[in-house]
Amino acid sequence: MRIDKLLSNTGYGSRKEVKQLLKSGSVLVNGTVVKDAKTHVDPNHDLVVVHNEEVYYREFIYIMMNKPQGVISATEDLREKTVIDLLDINDAQFNPFPVGRLDKDTEGLLLITNDGQLAHTLLSPKKNVPKTYFAVINSEVTEEDVRLFEAGVTLDDGYETKPGYLKILKSGLTSDIELTITEGKFHQVKRMFEAIGKRVIYLKRISMGPLQLDESLDLGEYRELTKEELEQLK
Ligand code: URA
Repeated sequence: MRIDKLLSNTGYGSRKEVKQLLKSGSVLVNGTVVKDAKTHVDPNHDLVVVHNEEVYYREFIYIMMNKPQGVISATEDLREKTVIDLLDINDAQFNPFPVGRLDKDTEGLLLITNDGQLAHTLLSPKKNVPKTYFAVINSEVTEEDVRLFEAGVTLDDGYETKPGYLKILKSGLTSDIELTITEGKFHQVKRMFEAIGKRVIYLKRISMGPLQLDESLDLGEYRELTKEELEQLK
């Protein structure tokens, strides 16, 4: 790939800024100063050094975000703030996108990547990737509800859900629950509760496949996946 593309992909600025950087003589490829932006390098084999620091090239980025309410799971929108708007410029330049959607008022675990193949695998209905949500429900959730969800419920459009696994954490005037589902229909958790006459008043995703929300992330914060998390996910 061209040296200017590699440098701009790894956070050294726009193509124009990178051209200036090259001109200044601060870029070495395998020990030789390179000034021509069109020079081709093999990011996996050539040693590229800028201001005495090795350039670490990677094609993909994998981000875990604790999505706050009020932002939408999209890459861009004319009116609304998106999860990509919350990334800083160095991360946003990888052109990442959210893997699946959380509603505007849903919080929690959102994976953001530019690895289309991984996203496709995680979202494929055939893979049955489990997703677990914590929710607060507006009324009492009962053992009967646990059985109903396990048998599958009928949504407002007639769709029969696959089994959902409901855990009651606290039951009363409002209830705290965890629900694990392997599908991702539009507003699925909210619609499953509507199907049994109840309403979700707070919703947060806490896991997706092997990936658990890092609770040390404040709302709106994010970090890259660790090597171990990535290995488990692939
Ligand atoms: N189910 C919902 O209803 N909303 C979400 O954001 C995710 C799952």
